[in-house]
Amino acid sequence: MSLAATELRCRVLIVDDDSTMRLMLRETMEGGGHEVIEACNGEDALTLFEQYQPDIVLMDVDMPRLDGISACRRLRDLPEFGMTPVVMVTGNDDSASIKAAYEAGATDFISKPINWPVLGQRVQFILRAARTLRELEVSESKNSALLGAIPDCICVFDADGRIDQLLDQGQGEQWLPSDAEGRLISELLAPEHAREFQAQIRRSLEGGSIQTFEFQHGRKTAPRAHEVRLINYRDNRVLALIRNVTERVTAAAKVHRLAFFDTLTGLPNRQRFLRALRSALSEAQTQGGQVALLFIDLDFFKRINDNLGHSTGDVLLKSVASRLAGCIRGSDMVSPTDESQQSQTLARVGGDEFVILARGIRDKHDAERIAVRVHEALRSPFSHLGREFVVTPSIGIAIYPQDGADAEALMKNADTAMYEAKTAGRNTQRFYSESMSLRSMERLDLELKLRKAVEHGDLEIHYQPKINLKGRGITGVEALLRWNHPEEGPISPARFIPLAEETGLIAPISEWVVTQACEQSRAWVAAGLDPFPIAVNVSSQLFTFGNLATMIWGAICNSGIDASSLELEITESLFLRDLAQIHETLREIQEMGVALAVDDFGTGYSSLSYLKRLNVDALKIDRSFIEDINIDADDRAICSAVVAMGHSLGLKVIAEGVETREQLAAICDIGCDEVQGFLFSRPVPAAQISEFVRSNLAATIIGDANDRGATGSRRLR
Ligand code: C2E
Ligand code: MG
Ligand code: MG
Repeated sequence: MSLAATELRCRVLIVDDDSTMRLMLRETMEGGGHEVIEACNGEDALTLFEQYQPDIVLMDVDMPRLDGISACRRLRDLPEFGMTPVVMVTGNDDSASIKAAYEAGATDFISKPINWPVLGQRVQFILRAARTLRELEVSESKNSALLGAIPDCICVFDADGRIDQLLDQGQGEQWLPSDAEGRLISELLAPEHAREFQAQIRRSLEGGSIQTFEFQHGRKTAPRAHEVRLINYRDNRVLALIRNVTERVTAAAKVHRLAFFDTLTGLPNRQRFLRALRSALSEAQTQGGQVALLFIDLDFFKRINDNLGHSTGDVLLKSVASRLAGCIRGSDMVSPTDESQQSQTLARVGGDEFVILARGIRDKHDAERIAVRVHEALRSPFSHLGREFVVTPSIGIAIYPQDGADAEALMKNADTAMYEAKTAGRNTQRFYSESMSLRSMERLDLELKLRKAVEHGDLEIHYQPKINLKGRGITGVEALLRWNHPEEGPISPARFIPLAEETGLIAPISEWVVTQACEQSRAWVAAGLDPFPIAVNVSSQLFTFGNLATMIWGAICNSGIDASSLELEITESLFLRDLAQIHETLREIQEMGVALAVDDFGTGYSSLSYLKRLNVDALKIDRSFIEDINIDADDRAICSAVVAMGHSLGLKVIAEGVETREQLAAICDIGCDEVQGFLFSRPVPAAQISEFVRSNLAATIIGDANDRGATGSRRLR
């Protein structure tokens, strides 16, 4: 770049009382392309300065009215004066006046006699210097604005980890004290963090790249987090930008907790558990170990939620979680244990579903031992608001590698095994086997078909007559569900009713059966038959839905039948549930005028006190006792006892499943009131019941059987 191109053209204020001097200065300046303004003393100079804002002032020292030194001092006091260079043109080149000039704010001085040829260069130089100074000032103020805007604490460390310079303490809560300069990082941080900090400084100095890391300090309950960036600076020093990231770290920890932990129990959730499971499996794969997965489902937990409300359910779940946590080894839910190679992880993966992952087991017995501990942990009742609850677990166990190659398969198979434990009567555990999978597939398939059958109205009801042994006529019928699948043919209720109970389909199915039965009763009466009750089987499950009585009353009212035309058959399993709500529902139903019979009596658990308290109307002796009544003396004795007991409580006793005349003779002998069985009629479509009533078949059969009573007795053992 040529010199001319870099030359600055500007406005020069020449101040001198000597007009010759002013003329010569003007000529020189104008010769350099500058614009010139003249003043002949300090006072005029001040006025012109404010008026014209020159870029440079060439000022004589000795002048009348206001001398150059004083004028310079006054100029420096003007706000707009800024950094404008003032060059003193003086004949007094003694050091005292030079000092006075500088003290007054002069930028430079030129001695008289003036060396005219270099004056232009000198002015150029001073202008350039002034411009650089101005730029520097702008950049400095930019820098300090920048530093002020950065929220970080900014400081310089030397290689020993000593704070060489504290440039900015940062915004908000300050990490470094204002007197931190000269102190070592080891004086400011806990030893482990100081070591890490020091190592990072070394790395930054060696590698030159930006080192980023985080450290925490402060109290354990409220730790503060800082993010540090170290930049290799100069002279074996690093620039550190330290930012308070406590809020971000706390928020991230919260998000992590929400994403991976169950908020109710504080246990790891499914996501977190699957991660742990996957890592356990890959470890077992490389090191050749076994891993057990225990899938725990609480029995009838839904009932607690439905009957006592979700808040009670939640309290119970928390207690269960803490008992389970206490029974897994070490109770540290993810760390390895001391006494063996096992480590266990507990998680909550669904409403009432918990899982335990056991690493490093030797064989299935190790897994079984954990299951036993779970049972023991839950054995004693839980109490809440003055009530006691017993919560039992059904546990399915799957073991890696034999029961599944990956986390998903293992979870699925442990779940299948849990399901088997439920089917086996609950409160127990089952190990997974392949046949279970097959069964569970079939179950799924059947469930799908059942749903379709319910939707398409493919279910039917058949009716089986009940005969009074004394009057020899029909005293009622039992409504029995029939499902004739288009491809599979008839599917027994013994197969699909339990499935309907598990899937909740039992509710719509039962409502349909009750409605149909009421309609049928009305139709038979309309067709001229004497009214007789229709007995409908109700699943114990229905008592948990809470609207059974309403549903029954609705069906009775809609059909317009008398409530006495409906009977309900309940099973003994209901008595196992000592819940006030069940009593209440049964009482409501009885108050409507609907009779109650206990079905399959003798196969389950019946407390006599329940029979009395619930005020049932009839007992139906289970078919299994009738079957061998003439062969097995015990069965006959049981039947006799049931009849005696029933009668003493004022109940009607009905024999189910009577197939032969011999069985009929025997039940007549022991004094049963009513009978039901293939001997009289299989369950048949409604139309055939009318025929059965009109025929005198029942009376004929009973008459016959009475005649052969002795034959039946002969077959007794
Ligand atoms: P259950 O209530 O004890 O019904 C009597 C069962 O014994 C019926 O079987 C009936 O067909 C059968 N049975 C009657 N007499 C004889 C006989 O002389 N010999 C033999 N071998 N069997 C006889 P089914 O219809 O297969 O029903 C089985 C069970 O399914 C019923 O036992 C009942 O618990 C349940 N069930 C049927 N329909 C319904 C329903 O609508 N709702 C509910 N919840 N359960 C139902
Ligand atoms: Mg029944
Ligand atoms: Mg029965």
